Amino acid sequence: MAHFYRPTWAHIDLDAIGYNINQIRKTIPKHTSIMAVVKANGYGHGAVQVAKKALESGANKLAVALLEEALVLRDSGITAPILVFGRVAPADVHIATQNNITLTFFQKEWLEAVALHPSETPLEVHMKWDTGMGRVGVRTEEELTAILEALQKAKNIKLKGIYTHFATADEAACDHFNEQNSRFQQLKALFEKKWSSPVVYHTGNSAASSRYPEKMYDGIRFGIAMYGLYPSQTTKVEHPIDLKPAFSLHSRLIHVKKVEKGATISYGATYEAKTDEWIGTIPIGYADGWLRKLQGIDVLVNGKRMPIVGRICMDQTMIRLDQHYPIDTKVTLIGRQGREEISMDDVATWLDTINYEIPCIISDRVPRVYDSEYKS
Ligand SMILES: *Cc1c(COP(=O)(O)O)cnc(C)c1O
Repeated sequence: MAHFYRPTWAHIDLDAIGYNINQIRKTIPKHTSIMAVVKANGYGHGAVQVAKKALESGANKLAVALLEEALVLRDSGITAPILVFGRVAPADVHIATQNNITLTFFQKEWLEAVALHPSETPLEVHMKWDTGMGRVGVRTEEELTAILEALQKAKNIKLKGIYTHFATADEAACDHFNEQNSRFQQLKALFEKKWSSPVVYHTGNSAASSRYPEKMYDGIRFGIAMYGLYPSQTTKVEHPIDLKPAFSLHSRLIHVKKVEKGATISYGATYEAKTDEWIGTIPIGYADGWLRKLQGIDVLVNGKRMPIVGRICMDQTMIRLDQHYPIDTKVTLIGRQGREEISMDDVATWLDTINYEIPCIISDRVPRVYDSEYKS
């Protein structure tokens, strides 16, 4: 990693990634393969580093959302199979073929457009079925029949897999999940009548694969849980597998001062010291994804909780300290210090969102550090 000068960083514990993959490996059947989902720069953890660690730890394949994200992995020398979940424009499909990247499709028109410009090496595709997510995918038997006819004619396109995605696999109520499963089985029955070459089937994300391991087909798509985060409160409480969070966020005090009672802190002068107080400044702000709405949440200093006071600025944030601390004292914004922890879920709850969103919004300006010397 390039040298960085600012004392603010995210530590990514790659051993935790390995641990989490081991946990799911022990849970799912032997023949079920693991696709490590590293879209959105590995959920903000660093796609290349996570992908390499995941492959070393027993993942068999990788998945991303965009063709660009697949190319980043190929450019780093990764040769494992990569599936792109999103729709790639027919005009760009040759880039995938040249780089041995598998694409997702779900439209007959897409197949026909791609088949117009056959490449020498065949394009590998997985077909997406919409069994109840309502996002992308083939929905009806008529659509499926028409697509298979078009596929039969498209000689340069090889169907390798079929998948669907669950909308509610992380929830306690399982009606919708069961409906999606039976819809998948219906479409699968029709497909198998009309198609003879072998394909792999995969349906499960982190929630489905950890909660219903016996229902997984040939593979799982393992995302959030690989990063050590539970897909929902329900799964966290159920605890079907043990997970270790990989992401922690740290900074250091760059200024410490004592202010007198009545002094105000930051824009708008919204915070007023109730007594003489020690105030510390840390170099992280909303431009780093440490959003203004996080005003008031605690951070950890010396193993103790200290609140963020006053408005969060673009590049800096103030905290109220319980005593004087030297410049360069470590401040943990997400993670553990001693017995105290500010979890990703705590930050997500504060922001009224889900843990998935938090590492994704910690911006590129925050260097991701993988060395174990940074371990907290
Ligand atoms: C993001 C994504 C996943 C991973 O989901 P997690 O809940 O993070 O495990 C799996 N499949 C598809 C199609 C996705 O877009």
